[in-house]
Amino acid sequence: MIEVYNVSKHYEFGNVTALKGINLTFEDGRFYVIAGTSGSGKTTLLNILSGIDRPTSGEVLVDGVRIHSLKEKELRHYRLENFGIVFQFFYLVPYLTGLENVLLPMKYSGKIENPEERARELLKLVNAEHLADKLPKHMSGGEMQRVAIARALANRAKYLFADEPTANLDWENKVRIWELLKKVSEEEGVTVIAATHEREFFSFADVLILLRDGEIHEVKGNPRKA
Ligand code: ADP
Ligand code: MG
Repeated sequence: MIEVYNVSKHYEFGNVTALKGINLTFEDGRFYVIAGTSGSGKTTLLNILSGIDRPTSGEVLVDGVRIHSLKEKELRHYRLENFGIVFQFFYLVPYLTGLENVLLPMKYSGKIENPEERARELLKLVNAEHLADKLPKHMSGGEMQRVAIARALANRAKYLFADEPTANLDWENKVRIWELLKKVSEEEGVTVIAATHEREFFSFADVLILLRDGEIHEVKGNPRKA
């Protein structure tokens, strides 16, 4: 469970208050979509939840751990163990194959037995078995994003964060990626927290969190499993 207490974020640069006193709870195993127009604070919130960025004030507790009170090295370790992150621009390592990209986080953590077997299973889960030996430059955007999702799951992350995961894809691939994220949350029991401005995909959420101007405008849906 992730608990957010009174989180605010002020950027000195431009003198912008991107988040204003956010309070939220994220229950385990559910699919959350953080929605809102450009500039509403989605990326800022996601980066604070995933420990990429710090709040100006307020606290985030992940399974009881105040992640922003951890030392830099502890936080990095915590993130590697618990968080998977998927980005808009995929960020695959260009000189590694699909399989090697998925293996990479397991090499860092060293906690997965039979990494290669797990990597191949994950590629299968995201319908990307055929990409194992391909370099990113020979993959389509949708294919790169599927490999990136497999990579994000490699260390058995409990939480999967995704920031505009389909903003750079064509329509057909957008739908496939959202369906895949939904499947991952259902079949792997991962808590997915995805930010998007694309209204067509709000309906994938178990819980939709609508941000407006750095504040929560509305929370819709059901955080508890039926
Ligand atoms: P969204 O992801 O919903 O588009 P952001 O979280 O990126 O929103 O941005 C929220 C507000 O904070 C915007 O006004 C944006 O310009 C500002 N902002 C975001 N990142 C920074 C930064 N690193 N420095 C200064 N201002 C920022
Ligand atoms: Mg954003």
